[in-house]
Amino acid sequence: MIRLKNIAADFVSLFYPKLCLACQSALQGNEHILCTSCMNSLPETSYFRDTQQPVMELFNGRLKLEHAGSLLFFEKGSKYRNLIYQLKYKGKKEAGIFLGKLMGARILESRSGSIDCIVPVPLHKSRLRRRGYNQSAILAAGISPMLNIPVVEDVLIRKKHTATQTRKGRFERWQNVEDRFECRKASTLENKHVLLVDDVVTTGATLEAAGSCLLAIPGLTLSVATAAYASS
Ligand SMILES: [Zn+2]
Repeated sequence: MIRLKNIAADFVSLFYPKLCLACQSALQGNEHILCTSCMNSLPETSYFRDTQQPVMELFNGRLKLEHAGSLLFFEKGSKYRNLIYQLKYKGKKEAGIFLGKLMGARILESRSGSIDCIVPVPLHKSRLRRRGYNQSAILAAGISPMLNIPVVEDVLIRKKHTATQTRKGRFERWQNVEDRFECRKASTLENKHVLLVDDVVTTGATLEAAGSCLLAIPGLTLSVATAAYASS
């Protein structure tokens, strides 16, 4: 029965080969998610190890952080952008688990493992319903077993920003596009070191809003991790 299943799977992959989620070439039998060539040239940062780097600097004076790191550089036109695209828009959750595991491994290598739990940046309800899953929660699910810490999804809540945006300058209006965050059952995270996880950091506005909300919880310390860093 099992053998039959394998034969069927081979047969299907003959016509619909699994593709590398970065370069789209057909994967060989021993390759998963990425082909060997893409795997060997992953544009990894060293930011989980380094304390002085652009992602830490991005939050300087905005969020009090223990650490902030990103796994991959996210250059314009890079084929590795497909990994996040496939995760967010094509239902390829395995891309998120893959990235999450790598993030967990790098965090483990670089730090003492003092983090107590992971909080993925939430989507607001209507978007979650449309997409069916939260890509940051998938990343968190990849990190969690690597660090042996739980994912907490019922404290940080995202709300659509409803404030009026008229009679404001351009910059303020841009800032107002960001959603609001709220914390419920905040006592769960009191005195905890929380790792806030998102897919990509660019301006840092979303992480700043979500992180400020968490930092209002008594005794909470905060670190930030993203799968990718896009410098602009
Ligand atoms: Zn490839």
